[in-house]
Amino acid sequence: MTDSLEQIASEVSGCTRCPLHTSRVKAVPGEGPLNAQIMFIGEGPGFHENQSGRPFVGAAGDFLNELLHSIGLKREDVFICNVVKCRPPGNRDPEPAEIEACRDYLDRQIALINPQVIVTLGRYSMARWFPAARISAIHGKPRQVGKLLVVPMYHPAAALHQPSLKQEVMDDFRRLPQFLGETRQAAPADSGDEPAPEQPQQLSLF
Ligand code: URA
Ligand code: SF4
Repeated sequence: MTDSLEQIASEVSGCTRCPLHTSRVKAVPGEGPLNAQIMFIGEGPGFHENQSGRPFVGAAGDFLNELLHSIGLKREDVFICNVVKCRPPGNRDPEPAEIEACRDYLDRQIALINPQVIVTLGRYSMARWFPAARISAIHGKPRQVGKLLVVPMYHPAAALHQPSLKQEVMDDFRRLPQFLGETRQAAPADSGDEPAPEQPQQLSLF
């Protein structure tokens, strides 16, 4: 059977692979178009996401919408999801075993969407590609991983709680369109080669 975003969402809704299923109201598979060029990957559903079944609909979501608008994008243009699809009780951090149990859904979403750019929001999605990195050192700096350009960013909720981070997130976002342009030029969709970065000095910052 060929995989689809709908198939994944339906599996996630009934998933019992990790203990988070026992306390969820609604699973939050993620949303956005199959042909999205950018994927945003957060941490896990919070209170409002758990109630509605949709990602980033609370205060952090409002800020994410603002950030998207600031660079001429709408929510409907991008795919938004999380490393765990069910809410950790009390908004605690997701456990490594929960992230691992949920990993296959995220892998399949990435494989289907095949985005040009993945933006990781916060430490948990960053750790998937850069396990040893500190977010304060690498946020906003894109790194080519195979065909993907991965751009780590602070979590919008962290930025809301810590005003000094807000400007950093806004500045990191402002550079996103440029990265998208670079991968578009550098990596034709059917090329399996590692694309040569357009601006190596930008891409080799860490
Ligand atoms: N924070 C996240 O990481 N994900 C959401 O969906 C909402 C808030
Ligand atoms: Fe399944 Fe992921 Fe929800 Fe755990 S968090 S129950 S693995 S969908």
